Amino acid sequence: MKCLDLSLERLDSPILQHADLVAIHVGMHTAARIAIEALPRIRQLAPKAHLCVYGLYAPMNETLLRALGVATVLGGEVEAALLSLCRRLRLPASASTQSEPVISLARLPFFVPDRSGLPELSRYAHLVLPDGSRRVAGFAEGSRGCKHRCRHCPVVPVYQGKFRIVPVDRVMDDIRQQVSQGAAHISFGDPDFFNGPTHGLRLARSMHQAFPELTFDATIKIQHLIDHADLLPELRACGCLFITSAVEAVDDDILGLLDKHHSSGDFDRAVALTREAGIALAPTFVAFTPWTTLEGYLALLERLVKLQLVECVPPVQLIIRLLVPEGSLLLELPGFREKLMPFDPGSLGYPWRHCDRRVDRLQQELQALVARCEQEKLARRETFGAIWRMAHEAAARSAPDLPPDLGSPIHRLSEPWYCCAEPTDQQLQAF
Ligand code: SF4
Repeated sequence: MKCLDLSLERLDSPILQHADLVAIHVGMHTAARIAIEALPRIRQLAPKAHLCVYGLYAPMNETLLRALGVATVLGGEVEAALLSLCRRLRLPASASTQSEPVISLARLPFFVPDRSGLPELSRYAHLVLPDGSRRVAGFAEGSRGCKHRCRHCPVVPVYQGKFRIVPVDRVMDDIRQQVSQGAAHISFGDPDFFNGPTHGLRLARSMHQAFPELTFDATIKIQHLIDHADLLPELRACGCLFITSAVEAVDDDILGLLDKHHSSGDFDRAVALTREAGIALAPTFVAFTPWTTLEGYLALLERLVKLQLVECVPPVQLIIRLLVPEGSLLLELPGFREKLMPFDPGSLGYPWRHCDRRVDRLQQELQALVARCEQEKLARRETFGAIWRMAHEAAARSAPDLPPDLGSPIHRLSEPWYCCAEPTDQQLQAF
């Protein structure tokens, strides 16, 4: 078996030439976009191979993938189905029709992931310290799926409000192998580290006991940060540097439409609680939605200033546009489909236009601005200042001077990728 990471490596013809099976993992929207781009070339390089696409973004793009020649599409808890696929391909040709369920939520026995075919850990996203120095970061999953059903979330159409726990011992074995490859920090990829708070805490304790110097970050929703605030000091003591939280909006109406189960005021509360515990909060946003107004966008910027969070938010977060993939619960929202254009196979989603053209224009101009600022490697606060001025100009308001204290830089990962958003032009150009 050979493994290629298309985010870091080129499609390799000698590897593909004799392949009987090519299975592409699409764990994120951007990975699915790369897969769609790569499939015609893979078909050329491996004309006899059975094509499989698996992972969170496979089932919702099943129709398109099959049209591109993909014979097996798998989502959810896929490992048993992948094994079944390999076994059936050893049978006569008639067994090439998919017999595995497209989505499985079966409880599987977990094994330690075999990472031996992947590029070195040091080639992946790093932890960046506030002083700009870097540490090698690893990745682990303590759980998969999510018990919540936020309307815009890509986890929901597949996991339907369910989650699966990975046993602590397995996760620890995986962490151990990455520490031996130089990882000094672990980024937990669980959709929500506190879907099972006891499990999350057990994991943090085990990790800290085995590797007292190892730090970590995790994703936890606002509601869980408030409900389990008593656990935060121990997370900090176990090495938690920052928590990513999908705040999405500071407008209660938009939060209601997204079914986030937190209010704008809860965001302030979560900031206070994490600060009290000594953990940085890195909020993420869907800054542009069909319901965003120019005034509402300014309110988001003002809130980041007031909460001194400017250094905690990657500028790309302030240009993110709501992604509406096939299967999104948003499509069930009364009147929402009417706002959408037909499904676009190129972007793997339903494009939409804002009823106020100024909002779309601002988003596009900000996208170009942020790309320029990233190229010039401007500090977050400088980019924020440029966004602040442009957004005020779009709303025909004069931009007040920003206060001197916009917050301190925090630990962060070197690549800001997010699952619920359309990739930016910059991200796609990287491939
Ligand atoms: S946005 Fe977060 S909390 Fe909501 S369903 Fe998705 S993973 Fe769960």
